[in-house]
Amino acid sequence: PYTYTVRNTGPEDVVVKVLYCGICHTDIHQAKNHLGASKYPMVPGHEVVGEVVEVGPEVSKHRVGDVVGVGVIVGCCRECRPCKANVEQYCNKRIWSYNDVYTDGRPTQGGFASTIVVDQKFVVPIPADLAPEQAAPLLCAGVTVYSPLKHFGLTAPGLRGGILGLGGVGHMGVKVAKAMGHHVTVISSSSRKRAEAMDELGADAYLV
Ligand SMILES: [Zn+2]
Ligand SMILES: [Zn+2]
Repeated sequence: PYTYTVRNTGPEDVVVKVLYCGICHTDIHQAKNHLGASKYPMVPGHEVVGEVVEVGPEVSKHRVGDVVGVGVIVGCCRECRPCKANVEQYCNKRIWSYNDVYTDGRPTQGGFASTIVVDQKFVVPIPADLAPEQAAPLLCAGVTVYSPLKHFGLTAPGLRGGILGLGGVGHMGVKVAKAMGHHVTVISSSSRKRAEAMDELGADAYLV
């Protein structure tokens, strides 16, 4: 394994002992340099769930012992229009959880590790009634499907929608849309995933 030293705990930093970390396909793309911009040594992982073991003196959102999550963004400028509108993903200075450079000039490293240190702004609480290992994939795949439904006001039950492709994100889309009370059709290139879609995930229809 690769060993490195995490930064000293800053005033707003949360030190998280990693319990679980989802494997998003982007982690595989990054590890194998499919996107052409990988820097090594790299520690992927951006669906991180862990326990808070230390907090900086100005941390107000989290306490030692809390179960928390960290996603794909760990920093932003906080001053531009996207930052002020809480859409930090559009900030020109947003910092990815790994394969990026932090404000101290050091590379960021992700959640396939024992520990991660993250600014409290980018640490979210995980509700006690949610199994931490099941919460992990919500931090990228889950928000990818939840966010647009929420953003475009599509959360009230009774809509009819299609999910194109039943992969890591698609299966999450079925579950989220069903939880909102929608009628969900899975559209796939073969019948291979019909039972998974209908019986395991609760889709209403399956279209090849
Ligand atoms: Zn991802
Ligand atoms: Zn910004």
